[in-house]
Amino acid sequence: MRPLAEAQRDVLAAVPPLPVIESPLHEALGLGLARPVLAPHDVPPFTNSAMDGYAVQGADVGSAPVTLRLLEDVPAGYVARARVSPGTAIKIMTGAPMPGGADTVVKVEVTEPEGEGAVRILAATEAGTAVRPAGSDLAAGAPVFEAGERLTPRHVAVLASLGVAPAVRRRPRAAVLSTGDEVLPPDAPVLGPGQIRDTNRPLLISMLERFGAEVVDLGIVGDDAPALRAALAEGAEEADMVITSGGVSMGEYDLVKTILAELGTIDFWKVAMQPAKPFAFGHIDGTPLLGLPGNPVSVMVAFEQFARPALLHMMGCTAVFRPLAAARAAEGWRSDPAKTVFTRVVTEMVDGVVYARRSGAQMSNVLSSLARADAFAVVPVGTGLVEEGDWMTLEMFRSPESRSASEALDG
Ligand code: AMP
Ligand code: MG
Repeated sequence: MRPLAEAQRDVLAAVPPLPVIESPLHEALGLGLARPVLAPHDVPPFTNSAMDGYAVQGADVGSAPVTLRLLEDVPAGYVARARVSPGTAIKIMTGAPMPGGADTVVKVEVTEPEGEGAVRILAATEAGTAVRPAGSDLAAGAPVFEAGERLTPRHVAVLASLGVAPAVRRRPRAAVLSTGDEVLPPDAPVLGPGQIRDTNRPLLISMLERFGAEVVDLGIVGDDAPALRAALAEGAEEADMVITSGGVSMGEYDLVKTILAELGTIDFWKVAMQPAKPFAFGHIDGTPLLGLPGNPVSVMVAFEQFARPALLHMMGCTAVFRPLAAARAAEGWRSDPAKTVFTRVVTEMVDGVVYARRSGAQMSNVLSSLARADAFAVVPVGTGLVEEGDWMTLEMFRSPESRSASEALDG
């Protein structure tokens, strides 16, 4: 059996980078930056007020009360014509440019109007208060993001503030195929003897859509050589990655394996992981193919451990694995010491510590315990027994407090 980390490394090393494009900002969410971003100008672009209040000279408001003569009003988006000089103030709104001569803003809450043309300052205010200097967030020319960062909504906001349309790697296209004579479309009204509904393709398509890939749906192909050949060739032609499920395990009817091997350069691996031990990886006409096992929980685990990291690597992203969290076992269980075991768990937060217990049956066909789970506990090779209280690592889908309310932030 291959260690999981080694198998992951081999997959990442063998997937080609996607082409670089200049993307409109609104289409770049989830993509990988192909070049570093430097700030083309200061952010904020001009020195401005952090408060609604009065722009003054700090020397005038070191002690209070004091009355200042009012020169003008500046709302956001306008520039004061007057200059603040000793003994004067300009009424200013949050985000409006600081008028010349002013170095301090006194917030409106500690002032009161005095007749038409004056304001009374009621609280002493330190010089420099409530002023946001030009470039105090990002100075012109400063490095903002490195190549390889994946664009989140937060990145998109920063790029918007800079007016930058980023250079990114193209959005990947992934082709998805279910195999097996027993597999029927999910909307099949009745199941005949021995038949099941296709869960893998809906699972993969949903994960890919949330991830932000384009999906080419190759449907369900029975254990039929010409149909399988045609579908795989179409996938390799149309997509940047082909993902199949079923037909790669040991000792079964090995039509899928035969066709895969015949069409491309495909290896069949036994990875030291559970679920998802059998795994096929290779290329058809230069397009990477990931042959996932048939059982649905294996499909999710293999997608998370191989397909998603491979797609991120193709997108030029530096960080390709999910963030991990530390947790303690709320109960004990046996684990296979020869494998990295992805155990479905529910979590609970007690005094700031996350506790995990199994979410139900752990066989690789059992989807209900997967849907209930908040995380995979990643039980490493060498651990034969998880004991109550042991610290371990989780790949979280959602946090204990937000069960059924919110899933992990990005796809
Ligand atoms: P296989 O590796 O093709 O023998 O499949 C292993 C198990 O997964 C069998 O019980 C299959 O019926 C099941 N399976 C294969 N493909 C799917 C699918 N698309 N949806 C649900 N179960 C599947
Ligand atoms: Mg099969």
